[in-house]
Amino acid sequence: MTQVNILPEDRLVFDRLKSTGRITHGLRRTITQQWNECVCCGNRALNGRPVFAGYDTDNRPVLVGACCSGQLVELATPIYPTGTLNLSIDDVQPIWRYMDFAKFVAMLQQGGLYFPRADKLEDRFEGAVGLASREADWDRFYLDFFRKAVISPPPGYSPPVLSEEQIEKTAQRLLKEMKSDALRIRSLLVSCWHANDVESEALWRLYCPPATLGVAIQSTVGRLWDATNQDTSAVVGRVHYLDFRHSFAGHQKERIFCKRLSLSHEREVRAILDNDHASPVAGRTLVCNLNALIIEVIISPFAPLWFTDVVSEVINKFGYSLHVRQSQLLDEPFY
Ligand SMILES: [Zn+2]
Repeated sequence: MTQVNILPEDRLVFDRLKSTGRITHGLRRTITQQWNECVCCGNRALNGRPVFAGYDTDNRPVLVGACCSGQLVELATPIYPTGTLNLSIDDVQPIWRYMDFAKFVAMLQQGGLYFPRADKLEDRFEGAVGLASREADWDRFYLDFFRKAVISPPPGYSPPVLSEEQIEKTAQRLLKEMKSDALRIRSLLVSCWHANDVESEALWRLYCPPATLGVAIQSTVGRLWDATNQDTSAVVGRVHYLDFRHSFAGHQKERIFCKRLSLSHEREVRAILDNDHASPVAGRTLVCNLNALIIEVIISPFAPLWFTDVVSEVINKFGYSLHVRQSQLLDEPFY
């Protein structure tokens, strides 16, 4: 973890603008997609220096370094790039969801995407920090980190006078707070997609094995961002696959974008939404414009011929205009 490093030119930005905390869907998209990069000049923030997320004179979201901070008329929040995961993935990247017919019909009927809660998904490691066998290592590292942090004041402030016991007590409390965050992370709502330029036979077999009537819907990262624009908590990002024998998952919401290396074939992109803090739900449908989200509906290569007509008919019955096509896996070879 890199220490935060605030230079005099960064300090000037803080002096000029107070953070308003107003983060729109568009600004969150910019923060995620630009990841630590000044939108204006392309500078990557380095050595723990902050980047500034906010709005320009036309209320357009911008993410800038101190280099181009003149663009900012409102500072929403500073971002400290201290070991943050890069979740960004190109807007034009094709993404797929393979599903059985029942789920497809439910999606049409509800007029949106269903987001189950992370702890309801199959993978026990959703929201996990790491392997239980390494928990003591993790605790030790962060206790040490917090012990140092509580006696290191921000620039310009004198160090607080604390007894050994007070330092220890505060460090223990901070560790406990950080660990209780884990439960909140596991209650995030998740929509899982597969990033691929082409169809995947492996994914058909995994999600719609022969004898299951299935379809895949194809979209793009940019369209998924657009589809979630009613929810300011939405983040669309690429999943990182970690070898938990040597790594721990990221912090806060980034943790939900970390999975075990053994699942890397999923090449997952996911959209996440906040759950209700007080009474978390098991899942929620995000109503969106499915005609705009879905580029094509692809019929499973394992489905019988009559199934194509049924899919088209059902799409029409619900009043959508979605293009339906056969799987390219059925294309004939020549020898
Ligand atoms: Zn710049």
